[in-house]
Amino acid sequence: MIEPKPIPRPPAGARNFVVVILDSLRWDSWKASPPSSVTAALGDAERRFSYATWTAPSHLNLLMGLLPHTSPAHVYASEYYKRDFLRYSERLGVADMEFKRLLPSIFLPTYLRHALGYRTHARVSMPVLNKFTVINRDFESYELMPSHNDMAAMVEEVHFDPERPSFWLLNVGETHYPYARPGEDTSDLPHISGVHGVFKKLDQIRAEGGEAGEFFDQARLRELHERQIAVLEYLDGVLERLLSKLPQDTWLVVTSDHGELFGEEGYFGHGPVAHEKVLEVPFVEGLVR
Ligand SMILES: [Zn+2]
Repeated sequence: MIEPKPIPRPPAGARNFVVVILDSLRWDSWKASPPSSVTAALGDAERRFSYATWTAPSHLNLLMGLLPHTSPAHVYASEYYKRDFLRYSERLGVADMEFKRLLPSIFLPTYLRHALGYRTHARVSMPVLNKFTVINRDFESYELMPSHNDMAAMVEEVHFDPERPSFWLLNVGETHYPYARPGEDTSDLPHISGVHGVFKKLDQIRAEGGEAGEFFDQARLRELHERQIAVLEYLDGVLERLLSKLPQDTWLVVTSDHGELFGEEGYFGHGPVAHEKVLEVPFVEGLVR
């Protein structure tokens, strides 16, 4: 039998690290309604760019430690990665981070748990991130929430250990289509399958033949963008509750995994979309005192 690897004692002063991903939230939706709870604690968000246009690769990238980027010109990618990684000393409050220990996994939860002794937790809303996928690695707890749009239920589960710093990844689904509050009736909006739905439906289409649904018209697309802004207003209160649970000296990141298209050049949503708006995301981070 292989003994589980003991978790090392964390370095003195290592901070809790909490990353909130507001799924699909594009930059201008944040700008239209910046959550005052977050801006009061961390200041204004900046416009950054996601490395990927949809949930799965974007979360892998985030968990490799690379947060949305600033798209700097005249800088080598390797130089940018180096600077972004060096910020982890400040984020985590660990002066002597041994970055070589990020190898060979190049996976933040592995490093945090096995090199720095963190507790590691994830709560996710999107089925494409469920616990059987490759990104559930070296998490002490990892759950797909029963509802795709209930950040408040996640916040209930967030807890901290006075003996060890914690890393929490929260993938929040209210900002994803259909941009709804928990329990809201969205039956007037067309059903667009999530990933499980896509695979289930493929079998049906193969058996019966399928047809494409109609694309949204401009009025509907405008309404959908307004829905994303409105649901962010609702989330302000939930973020406030999260902030009230964070111990002093927690490093908080609030961002998104990718943007969303609301009709620009005929696009809706994200994924197989090559458009600047699908990469634009809000980004804010800092120490919660
Ligand atoms: Zn996503």
